[in-house]
Amino acid sequence: MRRVLILGGTAEARALAAELLGHCHVVSSLAGRVTNPRLPVGEVREGGFGGPDGLAAWLAAERIDAMVDATHPFAARMSASAAEASATNGVPLLTLRRPGWREGPGDAWERVGSLRAAADLLGHGDRVFLTTGRRSLPVFTVLPGVWLLARSVDPPDPPVPGNVHVLLDRGPYTLEGELALIREHRLDVLVTKDSGGSMTTAKLLAARELGLRVIMVDRPPPPAGVRLVESVAEAAVWAQG
Ligand code: NAP
Repeated sequence: MRRVLILGGTAEARALAAELLGHCHVVSSLAGRVTNPRLPVGEVREGGFGGPDGLAAWLAAERIDAMVDATHPFAARMSASAAEASATNGVPLLTLRRPGWREGPGDAWERVGSLRAAADLLGHGDRVFLTTGRRSLPVFTVLPGVWLLARSVDPPDPPVPGNVHVLLDRGPYTLEGELALIREHRLDVLVTKDSGGSMTTAKLLAARELGLRVIMVDRPPPPAGVRLVESVAEAAVWAQG
């Protein structure tokens, strides 16, 4: 059976593993950072490979025929590592990246290239809905006079400053829930990464409905020269060779 590695940590990676079940021998790989991750069907390994060389060695040892990078669009280091390992040992690589979000009627998102640039747009008195992940928190907590509702899957590293309210939660989210959250905490700015996908779009609809400012951090570009698809179906066809 064809042996396929899926670099995962996303809903698309789990869907792809399910799609390939019975057609290929699939190993899904997770970084091992989330305490209680949603697991794909089939074989799962956890933890880093030790950079591109470690991944190249692992691919050879496991006799992997093809690799799909289905990591989150912001997991730039893992994607770069996959591209380098593929170039080193010739294991074909496909990158599955869901489309980014698009503005709808009435939206006026402020697009920025980094978390730091997003923080630069915030000022005294802002009440911010921050959904950029627990590791990004230090970029924002230092801003004077800014109050943050920081939502993340796992808790941020302590100490958490007094201007931050941490909300531990994991999508999918509903429009009703997001509207209630924004109203309850009197939020006026949403800061988010352009993750794409349907599981977390409700915050954008709620922000539109309630007139919040939206600061959108753009995705890092994929590694040069990689073959990209946007759907699980396309990746499933490719993976089966
Ligand atoms: P990253 O910065 O690109 O990766 C850092 C290091 O973590 C990599 O160099 C690699 O270590 C290891 N790693 C990352 N993904 C891995 C995987 N799927 N399997 C094995 N090792 C992996 O990644 P990140 O942004 O921290 O994301 C980590 C994981 O969380 C990814 O699987 C991603 O799909 C998922 N995720 C990320 C976000 C986000 O916003 N970044 C959101 C949702 C889910 P070595 O160099 O040692 O191989």
